[in-house]
Amino acid sequence: MIRFVSLGPGDPELITVKGLRALQEADVIFCPATALKSAGEKEVSFSSRAAEIVQALGIDPKRISLFHVPMSRDREAARRAYDQLAVEVRRARRKRLEVVVVAEGDAGFYSSIHYLFDKLWADQIEVEQIAGVPAFIAAGAAAGLHIVKQTERLLVIPGTATAYELISEVKEGKVVVIMKLSACQAAVRTCLATHPEFHYYYFEQVGTREERFVTDPTQLIAMSFPYFSLLIIRKPEEQP
Ligand code: SAH
Repeated sequence: MIRFVSLGPGDPELITVKGLRALQEADVIFCPATALKSAGEKEVSFSSRAAEIVQALGIDPKRISLFHVPMSRDREAARRAYDQLAVEVRRARRKRLEVVVVAEGDAGFYSSIHYLFDKLWADQIEVEQIAGVPAFIAAGAAAGLHIVKQTERLLVIPGTATAYELISEVKEGKVVVIMKLSACQAAVRTCLATHPEFHYYYFEQVGTREERFVTDPTQLIAMSFPYFSLLIIRKPEEQP
């Protein structure tokens, strides 16, 4: 069995008991890493938030195996990286090692690693996906929000939204969560500028020491949103 463990969004304590047990039982834990180029653009080092979470949970770092995921914009390169990882994962499995592949947040929620899960599944290799806390749920909890209540509807958008879409969905009464906020900065700024009366809950680096929570539209409009940020927008409650 190859287990895909959801790590939660950053706070190591937000993993499930089941996920932690899978990590503890693993012989090898494959963790996604991103490349950091040096000033000369030559030497490359790797950074892995996933590996940091795994180590913070007291797992032996020797069991961690980093794999490089190219920028998400380069889909073909990412696919090749996952194809290569599939080979390594299967090799480890043939040696009868307990294999875990980790994902940040939930492994089935905007998670590119799911491509590997689908590939193994299609090849009839036994895989299991262990649920985890997605970033927007952790963000809501960090700010004490009741994200949706009663008959409200939630819409999750992945950063491809236009300003028009955002505004009309919120006006219709939906609570909108925008993931990958860095990909739709202009649309969000237009929404902020034309509808300062909406309620905005902006979160950055939830569950880490760099966590940031901003609700003021004037402050938000001047900001630039990094990759690890998301925004929840809702209409103000109507007065009875
Ligand atoms: N599988 C993840 C989502 C990965 S997509 C999950 O379940 O949450 C990557 C996007 O998730 C980022 O662009 C950002 O919008 C959001 N995200 C992930 N971790 C985050 C964090 N710690 N703080 C804020 N946003 C985060």
